Amino acid sequence: MNWRILEQWDKEYFWHPFTQMKVYREEENLIFERGEGVYLYDVKGRKFIDAISSLWCNVHGHNHPKLNQALIDQLKKVAHTTTLGSSNVPAILLAKRLVEISPKCLTKVFYSEDGAEAVEIAIKIAYQYWRNKGEKRKIFITLSEAYHGDTLGAVSLGGIDLFHGTYKDILFETIKLPSPYIFCKKNYGGLSEECKNALLEILEEILKSRDDIVAVSLEAGIQGAAGMLPFPKGFLRGVRELTKKYGVLMIVDEVATGFGRTGTMFYCEQEDVCPDFMCLGKGLTGGYLPLAATLTTEEVFNAFLGEFGEMKHFYHGHTYTGNNLACAVALANLEVFEEEKTLEKLQPKIEYLSQRLKEFWELDFVGDVRQLGFMAGIELVKDKEKGIPFPYGERTGFKVAYKCREKGVFLRPLGDVMVLMMPLVVEREHIDQVVDALKWAIESLKT
Ligand SMILES: *Cc1c(COP(=O)(O)O)cnc(C)c1O
Repeated sequence: MNWRILEQWDKEYFWHPFTQMKVYREEENLIFERGEGVYLYDVKGRKFIDAISSLWCNVHGHNHPKLNQALIDQLKKVAHTTTLGSSNVPAILLAKRLVEISPKCLTKVFYSEDGAEAVEIAIKIAYQYWRNKGEKRKIFITLSEAYHGDTLGAVSLGGIDLFHGTYKDILFETIKLPSPYIFCKKNYGGLSEECKNALLEILEEILKSRDDIVAVSLEAGIQGAAGMLPFPKGFLRGVRELTKKYGVLMIVDEVATGFGRTGTMFYCEQEDVCPDFMCLGKGLTGGYLPLAATLTTEEVFNAFLGEFGEMKHFYHGHTYTGNNLACAVALANLEVFEEEKTLEKLQPKIEYLSQRLKEFWELDFVGDVRQLGFMAGIELVKDKEKGIPFPYGERTGFKVAYKCREKGVFLRPLGDVMVLMMPLVVEREHIDQVVDALKWAIESLKT
């Protein structure tokens, strides 16, 4: 197919997510055709490093022989069968595997298709949990700058004004704690033990004074979509202790952080936290197919057991819940983690990345550099001394990302935060290529 026609049809028929289509239609479109390892190739034959893991989900690279084979094998059996009241082989095997590799208290798996749905399901189960136990509670505690996806429940838990402000009249009520990173930077000059304790005190005051709290929800260790804003160490652990102490549920969203992104399979491991709900998505299938999961505890699950007529069951499901192909490739994804020792090999890469990230501090237009494991954000500012941002309409982040394409690096920023979320299988040379291209592109803002 001629790429000029594809470009034209793309602009004519396709409404893209999170995209100002007026601007999109005025610019050159980037249309991918195939992938191989950490590289993507577009319809014009250009080659790019996929430095954002195709929106934070690719793990072992594109076109991986083992993942491909798992799909082919499953496809020859059956592509999809319903799990509403019946079951399928890969979904069963995957549920067992997920329970084995996740924090100990998590023993049940509820499937869905996207991260937002995994959160939506946690919200509904948590809410109904209290009702099934005969208590009426309706308030969720969340964080400012939180991001949990774009369906309305997930948006209600969210706290990014730019994405969520428009819908505030049709969202449910929440209590919002400050965003830890912003709060700590402003009041304590950075992430510290002291700041962590101050945040936990705010939470404890709320928990102490109310008896209508359903759950506290938060991302794991870092607020990704807000621009890679890490928590103080031990914050997640502190929230777990307080929610236990006051008998409130805890929802941890590991959609972005799960599957090795922070250096361990799940971030929760690093603070020895077992939440009541763990939401998974993105890397669950290695970046192959849409699949998400909400893991929960025996205690929560048991609150939904009863005779049929008691109507305690969870009335929720989707047509493709537990899809056979997606579960088969997710199982293969977990096998590849073991076979290729992905997490072991990742540790020196995280070290190397943090070394190279230091170089960004020297650049004129870099105001902050943040990292958790293999997730990183480089914040661009117009005036470094005074910390003045570029005007929103200038799209500086996008300009820098477009510039990187000239060096064969594919990026998508969050506003003016340049995000680095490379597939876990990148080698040093790829890290170098990405860092060098980004430094060059940021420097080119001067001219
Ligand atoms: C991406 C993301 C989501 C939403 O996942 P989708 O698959 O895009 O619906 C939820 N939570 C976090 C932390 C995310 O990064």
